[in-house]
Amino acid sequence: MSIVEDMRKKITEMESTIEEYKVISSKLPTEINYVVQSLLNHELNDLRFRLERFTFLKSEKQCTQCNNWIKENEDPTLLNFQYKTTKPVHMTLCFNCMSAMDKVMVTNEAEPKWGLRLGTIKQDRQLGKLKEFEDLGLVKLSGRYIKIHEIVMKTYYEPKLREKELREIQRNDRSKSKK
Ligand SMILES: [Zn+2]
Repeated sequence: MSIVEDMRKKITEMESTIEEYKVISSKLPTEINYVVQSLLNHELNDLRFRLERFTFLKSEKQCTQCNNWIKENEDPTLLNFQYKTTKPVHMTLCFNCMSAMDKVMVTNEAEPKWGLRLGTIKQDRQLGKLKEFEDLGLVKLSGRYIKIHEIVMKTYYEPKLREKELREIQRNDRSKSKK
């Protein structure tokens, strides 16, 4: 459920609470009645105010990486990627996550960390395999270095490595069954 839906639901609940209260309120002493009713109304108005402010200031877009709500005036980066037939990845990325320095590595750093042969990323980039990520700024040329975001390692290289692993297992199984 989105935060706006959640707030709308709370408002509806509050309204029905007030209605229910009206039914029983006639049996209560006037002073108590007054206090309870104003408390309920206050809470309802507060909710309405927050919802209004929220829908005015914020979009309903949420960052898939950090779960923060993205401001209306901020354009998130949308990544839609599918490695072959594996499950497609749809990500909405906020500005913070895109620029998070600790998530951006040079390829010499990323390759050993993911068990890739040195130069793999450079080669893949030249072959245009990383084009979608490059267009979004998740793979960047920076002087002599290529900088790559952790998201690319996770959405492109990890399924690729899993695929390779699976192929090796199948190959081993086949050679075993021949014996
Ligand atoms: Zn984020």
